[in-house]
Amino acid sequence: MGEKFGNFIDGKWVGAAGKAVFPSINPADVRDVIGEFAASEPDDARQAIDAAHAALPQWRALSGWARGEFLRKAADALESRLEEVAQAMVRENGKTVGEARGETARGVALLRFYAAEGVRSMGDVIPSTNPRTFIYTNRVPLGVVSVITPWNFPVAIPIWKIAPALVYGNTVVLKPASATPHCATLIAGIFEQSGIPRGVLNLITGGGRALGEELVKHPGVHGVTFTGSNGVGRRIACWAAERGVKYQLEMGGKNPVVVLPDCDLDRAATMTLRGAFGYAGQKCTATSRAIILDSVYDEFSRRLVEKTRALKIGPGKEESSFLPPVVSDEQRRSILEAIAKGKESARLLCGGGVPKGAAFDHGYFLEPTIFGDVAPGSYLTQEEIFGPVLALMRARDFDEAIQLANDTRYGLSAGVFTRDLNAVQEFVARIEAGVVKVNSETAGIEPQVPFGGMKESSSHSREQGRAALEFYTSIKSVYIDPA
Ligand code: NDP
Repeated sequence: MGEKFGNFIDGKWVGAAGKAVFPSINPADVRDVIGEFAASEPDDARQAIDAAHAALPQWRALSGWARGEFLRKAADALESRLEEVAQAMVRENGKTVGEARGETARGVALLRFYAAEGVRSMGDVIPSTNPRTFIYTNRVPLGVVSVITPWNFPVAIPIWKIAPALVYGNTVVLKPASATPHCATLIAGIFEQSGIPRGVLNLITGGGRALGEELVKHPGVHGVTFTGSNGVGRRIACWAAERGVKYQLEMGGKNPVVVLPDCDLDRAATMTLRGAFGYAGQKCTATSRAIILDSVYDEFSRRLVEKTRALKIGPGKEESSFLPPVVSDEQRRSILEAIAKGKESARLLCGGGVPKGAAFDHGYFLEPTIFGDVAPGSYLTQEEIFGPVLALMRARDFDEAIQLANDTRYGLSAGVFTRDLNAVQEFVARIEAGVVKVNSETAGIEPQVPFGGMKESSSHSREQGRAALEFYTSIKSVYIDPA
């Protein structure tokens, strides 16, 4: 067994009350155990919430600039440890080293963006109907915020939630995914390096099932922000609604691209492949459906399959790998089951299994998989598989393509490939997605831009950029009359 890691509660690293631990392993080589992490219980969650509560009055009393200083220092610490954090991410989560460096750099950018939020405008002056009354709005923090995060962006997602929560004056309890606890301990360590006061940021590792209810139902929690699956998100929403507590959910996707005949077909094939198979399809914004107009369907699918067959599958630590392993055995089994279901009703064009060879024996590798002529409404077009699996669908015309693209309960991201400006405007107007891409892959977002989904992909709130202010604060409207 590797190194032991504890929770970070009230500025101290401590083991779980029950002393239990769980391992984190390298998905590219399961013989490599990263370490043992605290398997926390509700008691540990209560301690973390109490610490966040105790730290709240002093933290919220600081100026936004002073709170931002801690974020700036955390950004500098993360930047100076970028390679260490990126390599740790590759080892624990499997993603390619290029993606891991990009994600860590994004963490730095997020911290710097939100550090500056401390001195940006927080309200409006609104003219009163009475000329002697002065009316303005101000924003106040929610209080203690529970942050529950998934494994697929183990550095960027926690930071894009923690940074705005803190700068707007909240204190935080972070519960990361059980597949990536080491990345979370590195984040807590970076905040510790920033000298942040004790109790302002707390980390507890352990199973979501054991800790989830406490983190939402505890009376000391004033807000819950969650990214993960729809099933868990809905449950959190119900618990939070019962208590009348503010919540924010970002969940799954079934993201389409529409390929129109006038586009640069080669570029469209490359972008579709990047969106579908980059990071083994484990981005919530990954492309999982390509809807192609009939006249270019055969040529597009021929080019796509040819390019896909040339992709290099391999461990994320090798700079030349394009398609790394998926995160866990459970995830790989669930993707293989989805592929088996797909084979029952659609034509397999490439992939469909586990790659062969000694290099793949100890990791959770999968082949990039494409199904052709997938029927509307079928399993492959409706269920989020969260792996390297792409469904190709034919459309007679643009109208049918839009209708197929919108034929899903999700609405996270969507793309169109075309040179026709009218088609672009029509697509932007009619597509049901929170992120719309024109001539690029469905994945890939910038930290200063609001992010979130429509339909069942989100709770209709937005994260990142200035949009985060909406969730992490409440508005106070102040009326001042002459004394
Ligand atoms: P899960 O919903 O399984 O887990 C997300 C987090 O919730 C983890 O920390 C998990 O802990 C925790 N959790 C599990 N059960 C409960 C519970 N009963 N109560 C409270 N918390 C709980 O999702 P995954 O980690 O598997 O992530 C994949 C999903 O996340 C995909 O559906 C994907 O689309 C979505 N996602 C969405 C994004 C977006 O921005 N829209 C971005 C990234 C991912 P534990 O790990 O211990 O089980």
